[in-house]
Amino acid sequence: MYQPGRTATDTQLETKAPSAPVPDVTAELWDFLEKAGVAFHWVAEDGTILWANTAELQMMGYQASEYVGRNIRDFYVDRQAIEDILIRLSNDENLNDHEARVRCKDGSTRWVAISSSVYRKDGKFVHTRCVTVDITDRKSASDLRQRLGAIVESSDDAIIAKDLDGIILSWNRGAERIFGYTAEEVIGQHVSILAAPDRIDEIPDILGRLRRGERVDHYKTKRKAKDGRILTISLTVSPLFDAQGGIIGASKVARDITLTESQEHALEAVNESLKMANADLEQFVYSASHDLQEPLRMVATYSELLMRTFRDQLGPDGADYLDYVLQGALRMEQLLKNLRAYTLVSTVQREPVDYVDSGMVLDRALANLRPTIVESSALITRGPLPKVKLQDFRLEQLFQNLISNALRYKRGPRPEIKVFAEPERNGWRFAVQDNGIGIDPRYKEQIFDLFKRLHSVAEYPGTGMGLAICKRIIERAGGRIWVESAPGRGSTFYFTLP
Ligand code: ADP
Repeated sequence: MYQPGRTATDTQLETKAPSAPVPDVTAELWDFLEKAGVAFHWVAEDGTILWANTAELQMMGYQASEYVGRNIRDFYVDRQAIEDILIRLSNDENLNDHEARVRCKDGSTRWVAISSSVYRKDGKFVHTRCVTVDITDRKSASDLRQRLGAIVESSDDAIIAKDLDGIILSWNRGAERIFGYTAEEVIGQHVSILAAPDRIDEIPDILGRLRRGERVDHYKTKRKAKDGRILTISLTVSPLFDAQGGIIGASKVARDITLTESQEHALEAVNESLKMANADLEQFVYSASHDLQEPLRMVATYSELLMRTFRDQLGPDGADYLDYVLQGALRMEQLLKNLRAYTLVSTVQREPVDYVDSGMVLDRALANLRPTIVESSALITRGPLPKVKLQDFRLEQLFQNLISNALRYKRGPRPEIKVFAEPERNGWRFAVQDNGIGIDPRYKEQIFDLFKRLHSVAEYPGTGMGLAICKRIIERAGGRIWVESAPGRGSTFYFTLP
C-alpha cells in the first residue's frame, strides 16, 4: 500500500499533498503514473483536483501548488462542457476521447481529448481518474483542412487534383458545374475525357511539363463538357509535392471563360461599329488633308508671287511677315502630306502581299534621299538584306523615314549609317543604326506617338509623324519597332517582320 505524499517530482513542482481520499496504488505504479508522458489527474466529486502528474502540470503550465486543490471547473473554457463531463462521470459513465478546451496559465487555450471514469470503493465515490491528451495541433490541422476544403468546394472555378498519369483524384463543385460531370462519374477516370477533340494532344504535353516540375499558367484552351459543349477554359496547373519534395500529382484550376452567344454577338457588334467609326474617321482625315492641300497651295503660291513682285513696296517688316506666312503654309503642306501618308497605311491595300527584296527597296529609299545624302556626305553601309512580306512602297517609306531621321539628327560633320538584318525565331529583325545625337531613353516610347517631337522646328525641322507612320506600318504587318539609344551615343532603330 502506498499513500501518495511528496514524490521525487514534487521537489520541482511543489505538490501540495492531497487531503482528499487517495486510492490503493503500489509504489511502483505510483512512480509510473507520476512520470508518465501522458497527462493524468484525479478529481474529487465536487471537482477539486486531488492530484495531477508532471505531464499534466507541464501541459497546463502550472506548479502543483497552483493547480492541485483548485476546482477543475476553473480550467475549462466552456463551463457547460465541464459540468456535462462531471455529471456524466458521477452517473458512472465512461468518457472516451471526449473533446474539450482548457485554458493554460499563460492564457492560451488547448484542445484536449479526455478519457475518464469514476473510481469507487465500497460503492463510495473516491475520485475520477482522467487521462488528458493534447490534440491542439491535430485539431488545428483538421480545422485548416476543413476550411481549405470549404474554399475549394465553394469556388466557382473547377479545382481538380490528378496524379502524374492524368487520373482524376478529386473534383469540386465548380468542376461539376462547369463540366457537368459529378465527382462519382469522373474520379478515377483519365483527364482526357475533358479534352476537346482537337486538343487531345495537349494532355501528354501538359503532363510532361508537370513531371518536370513546371507550372502551366493561365493557358487558354478548349475543353469539352459532358453534354458535348466546347468550352473556352483558362487553365492553371501546378505540380503537387510530397513531404520529401517529390512530385506526386497536380492541382488544376480551370476557369470557364466561354462567352455566351449573346455576349459574342454584342462583342462582334461593338467591334464592327468601332471598325466603321475608325474607317470613317480615317477617311475624313484623308479627305480633309487632301482638300486642305489646294487652298494651302494657293496661299503659298500667292505669297511667293507677292514676295517676288512687291518685295520693295512691302518694306523690311512686311517682307518678314510675308515670309512667316510662306513658311507656315509650307510647313502645313508637309504636315498634311504626312497625315495623308499616316491614314493611307490602313486604308490602302489590305490584300495579302508577295515577298519583296528589302535590299532593292532600300536602294529606292536611298535614291529618294540622294540630295541630302550627298549634301551631308553621309557614309551609308549595309549588310545582306532578306526578302520579306510587306508591300514594297510601305517598306520604302519605312526605310526612308528612318534614314532621313538618321541624316537629320546627326552629330558631327559626317553621319554614319548602317542598315542590317538578322534572322530571328519567327522572321527578321532589321536595324538602322546612326552615330547621331541619340535619344534620352525616357522618351523611347513617346517618340513613336503622333506629333511627338523632342526638338523645336527651328533646331531640327520635322512634323513628328515619321516614326508614328513607321510604327503603324510595322504593327499592321505583325511586327514590332523600338529604339535603343542614349544621348550623344547614336541610335539604333530596330523593327521585326514576320
Ligand atoms: P520628326 O523627325 O519629323 O520630328 P519623327 O516621328 O520621325 O518626327 O521623330 C520623332 C522624334 O524622335 C524627333 O523629333 C526626334 O526628336 C527623335 N528622333 C527620331 N529619330 C531620331 C534619331 N535617329 N536620332 C535622334 N533622335 C531621333
